[in-house]
Amino acid sequence: MTLDELVEAARSLAREGRDLIARASSGDELATARTTLVGRKSGRLTELMKALPALAPDARREAGAAVNRAKEALEAALDAREAELRHTAPAEPRLDLTMPARRTWRGAVHPVTRVIDEIRDIFRELGFTVAVGPEAETEWYNFGALNFPVDHPAMDMHDTLYLSDDTLLRTHTSPVQVRTLQSYPPPVRVIVPGNVYRRDFFDPSHAPMFSQIEGLAVDEGIGFVDLKATLVNFANRFFGRRPTRFRPSYFPFTEPSAELDVQCGVCGGSGCPTCKQTGWVEILGSGMVHPAVLEACGVDSERYTGWAFGMGPARVALSRWGIPDIRLLYDSDVRFLEQLAQ
Ligand SMILES: [Zn+2]
Repeated sequence: MTLDELVEAARSLAREGRDLIARASSGDELATARTTLVGRKSGRLTELMKALPALAPDARREAGAAVNRAKEALEAALDAREAELRHTAPAEPRLDLTMPARRTWRGAVHPVTRVIDEIRDIFRELGFTVAVGPEAETEWYNFGALNFPVDHPAMDMHDTLYLSDDTLLRTHTSPVQVRTLQSYPPPVRVIVPGNVYRRDFFDPSHAPMFSQIEGLAVDEGIGFVDLKATLVNFANRFFGRRPTRFRPSYFPFTEPSAELDVQCGVCGGSGCPTCKQTGWVEILGSGMVHPAVLEACGVDSERYTGWAFGMGPARVALSRWGIPDIRLLYDSDVRFLEQLAQ
């Protein structure tokens, strides 16, 4: 090759090489291009270099410079393309479409909370508002104002957790009735959800801390018929249209008092272990507010009357879902809870 031929060959190699490099669309293609162009053993650049010694010294210097320029241009183009491919075309993702999907855990509202929310919503639609109060109470709010005479057997029944001589953990949500009547003049319609504490042994149907929800309505001319109509309406909406019955009962703070039963949803009334073979499940206690309670709260019992009810959402959950042991509701065992999750 003459000097001119060699210089021209070096230029055309640089030109063609840049085209080849630009067309490389993967790392493998670029590696092949690199070998073809600047490979040590048989690359096209090496072929040109092999022709250099045959030239005269001056011509050799000129041709050598031309070959070097081509080499630098090609290597720069190769490096630039390599960086470009690495940036724009990452390694092809390895997708295994047969792999099982990861299981995602979804949280759900606890069954007792669900019962409370549903009860609260039903009474809200009936015009009740939510009231809350402290869990640490005085004896007066927990017992005295609610017509429990000192040393009344009912106080033994509650088996109270005392914090000090006069302070205790409330045994029911009824102190909130007292606080509400002290703060707001009738008409009053409140629903009171909250935690209560008893020293009950922790057995299949008793827990030392549990939630309660109760309601209170005080106004002029309220009678037992209002209590009955409201609570039956509630029971029909909450449990579905099932037979209900009121049974006379006793509470210090109501007179007369009654417990409301609904027909057992598990056996339909024929008798089963859930309803202890009676065909009925007790859902709440209720009654006309005792005039002594109204007076203790500063409400004129000659002018106003009222009714109240209270129930345990956990027990309601037991009968609604046929759960055999109340402790299941407090164990936080996901295997149990997820069966009731919505
Ligand atoms: Zn039954």
